[in-house]
Amino acid sequence: MAQTTGKKSIVILGGSYAGISTAHYVLKHVLPSLDSSYEVLLVSASTQAFCRQACPRALLSDAYFPQEKLFVNIADQFTRYPPSTFRLLHATVTALDTTARTVTLSSPLSSPLSSPPSTLPFHTLVIATGATTPSPLLGLSTNDTPSLRAHWAAFRAALPSALTIVIAGGGPSGVEVAGELGAHLNPPSWRDYLPILSAPPAPRVAITLVTSAPHLLPHLRPSIAATAEGYLARLGVTVVKSTRVVEAEAVGGRTRVVLSGGREVEADLYVPCLGTVPNTGFVANKGLLAADGRVRTNPKTLRVDGAGKGARVYAVGDASDFARPAVHSALAAVPVLGANMKRDLLGVEDGEDRAFEEETREMQLVPIGPGKGVGAVMGYRVPSWFVWLLKGRDYWLWTTGGTWSGKQFEKE
Ligand SMILES: Cc1cc2nc3c(=O)[nH]c(=O)nc-3n(C[C@H](O)[C@H](O)[C@H](O)COP(=O)(O)OP(=O)(O)OC[C@H]3O[C@@H](n4cnc5c(N)ncnc54)[C@H](O)[C@@H]3O)c2cc1C
Repeated sequence: MAQTTGKKSIVILGGSYAGISTAHYVLKHVLPSLDSSYEVLLVSASTQAFCRQACPRALLSDAYFPQEKLFVNIADQFTRYPPSTFRLLHATVTALDTTARTVTLSSPLSSPLSSPPSTLPFHTLVIATGATTPSPLLGLSTNDTPSLRAHWAAFRAALPSALTIVIAGGGPSGVEVAGELGAHLNPPSWRDYLPILSAPPAPRVAITLVTSAPHLLPHLRPSIAATAEGYLARLGVTVVKSTRVVEAEAVGGRTRVVLSGGREVEADLYVPCLGTVPNTGFVANKGLLAADGRVRTNPKTLRVDGAGKGARVYAVGDASDFARPAVHSALAAVPVLGANMKRDLLGVEDGEDRAFEEETREMQLVPIGPGKGVGAVMGYRVPSWFVWLLKGRDYWLWTTGGTWSGKQFEKE
């Protein structure tokens, strides 16, 4: 058994945007309303949190971002709370039993916080284990930072000799990765933007972005997608639409990419950006999961109703089906989850639960290299400079300090 303190454990699974934010919110706004018999336990497979949104650029070179801002130690973000109220467990959750009310943990032997594989009882549970991308370049998954850095190092080592690159997936990750690779490998000159010389320059490296959809960026209107395609062309990226990658096979250091229709491309580098798989394999009761593997969550209250009435099980972030996966959705949901958890822990039955409302208007910002970008905010198309200002210049790194430290949740 994991070391227990005899306290009622509010166990939060996952140490990224959703889990860290929930931990801060509960420590600041829920625990002070309860008696001293409660503690918060944050379980994270990684000792560090990082600005995942920055991956498309960060994977290319450490020079693009201050590394101490890109990666932060989770433990350092919680030093202000009394030690009796918070513990960080560096471990992977391997099983969740909502009937026995336990999670099974496997701790890496190398961990500074290491303890043997163990069973941890919970009083209250938040599932915030996020989702894994098919490419190991774009997230921590269930690994720690060294593993991500090793994947980046191998990719960077292969870049100088790469002449053909294929990226699969026309969503924001695929477009951002293609744009950053284009800007890094085929840097545009000012002449490339003059309308009079409108033919795109011949790229040094041929970068192909393949999407099964009829246009890029399916959550944005087609005219915005068309602008994105124009910006990509300036960076030597060719977009192949209405085409699927049906097979990608490693052959002698290259990748044979087979496209629907039978065309084959031999790529020096292949980056699959084809959506994500939720990190919920440890949920034993598969009835708690939606068809896509995310935890079925009440989209208003953030409770996992399938765990039973009064079960005190919640889910948020990419592991949950409460909303479309996005950082802004998770951060907006955390105060709602916290308020409803507080009601449950205090046994409040009168009045209304706090309700989450998903932002469903057209909303996405997509940088295309360091200089350009497309997007919409609250249903309004925004200009390229606006995308640069908010996101493209540092991929939201200007916001993550407040998220990791909990400053963002100072107010209830
Ligand atoms: C390339 C890319 C760019 C993106 N850009 C944007 C953007 O610009 N704007 C936006 O809103 N969203 C963006 N997203 C989506 C955004 O990154 C996710 O919505 C966000 O990371 C979800 O946060 P999360 O906390 O739910 O999960 P994650 O960030 O996926 O983190 C989950 C955490 O849980 C840990 N974990 C997983 N399994 C276990 C386990 N079994 N036991 C213990 N710990 C575990 C992991 O180590 C990880 O630290 C982007 C995603 C990608 C891949």
